[in-house]
Amino acid sequence: MRHLAFVLSLFALPAFAQQDFSKVEIRTEKLSDSVYMLVGAGGNLGLSVGEDAVFLVDDQFAPLTPKIEAAIAKITPQTVKFVLNTHWHGDHTGGNENLGKAGALIVAHENVRKRMSVENFIEFLGMKTQPDPRAALPVVTFTTDITFHLNGDEIFAQHAPRAHTDGDAIVHFRKSDVVHMGDVMFNKLYPFIDTSTGGTVEGVIAAAERTLKEVSERTRIIPGHGPLANRADLEAYRDMLVKISARIRDQLRAKRTLEQVQASKPTAEFDGVWGKGFLKPDKFVEMLYRNMEKRVQ
Ligand SMILES: [Zn+2]
Repeated sequence: MRHLAFVLSLFALPAFAQQDFSKVEIRTEKLSDSVYMLVGAGGNLGLSVGEDAVFLVDDQFAPLTPKIEAAIAKITPQTVKFVLNTHWHGDHTGGNENLGKAGALIVAHENVRKRMSVENFIEFLGMKTQPDPRAALPVVTFTTDITFHLNGDEIFAQHAPRAHTDGDAIVHFRKSDVVHMGDVMFNKLYPFIDTSTGGTVEGVIAAAERTLKEVSERTRIIPGHGPLANRADLEAYRDMLVKISARIRDQLRAKRTLEQVQASKPTAEFDGVWGKGFLKPDKFVEMLYRNMEKRVQ
């Protein structure tokens, strides 16, 4: 129930209000010889398969585990050996308990385990989450980065400090030239930043900058939500966040109220591309305003 409550509140909009997992189909897209992107409901998945082990990035919602396993079974007879969570949110970790019980080793930044172990309150969404059962918790945690040498690839997961949350990891499949950004990137929709669990817009921008230095025009980029992206999309995302956050920061310094900032329409030029997702322009402005107000003097 916890995860259903999560999706209903996170996507508290008509299009998502009636979400029925029985209707969800998992779509698979091959990105390299060994790496795939899987799309269903919840965060986009990354998958590495090959001679060594099945390595999965994120696992959506618990009711979708059999469908995710069926999608993987079309690619390889092996079962999932590693799950790496990009952050603690239930639309990325909901399958942990099922996969953990089935024998997968769950890996994440240490703050993911801390957050999943306790009750959390996401103030912006007015949503309380319950502690996860032990079987859902990461059993291997890291602080800065961790590397997996599997399937002829080097899979490098690096912490992005204070970005979408305080426990984000960005996963780079180096030989395959694929990056999974987790929710540090939303493609073509305004991103949610979880202020209540340590997220900051400055951290999201810094992580985008860092990734831009590491990727080429050919790199395939899996965003946490939205369609498959490339370097130009990440650059556009960074530019959008830099411009809008600067406009709101200037007005915070000038002691403008949220209503005044919303009335100034700081997102207007971007709304056509980014404003049709679950955060509409005014809500996105409110989220950034609340996120930045404590750091602006
Ligand atoms: Zn998230």
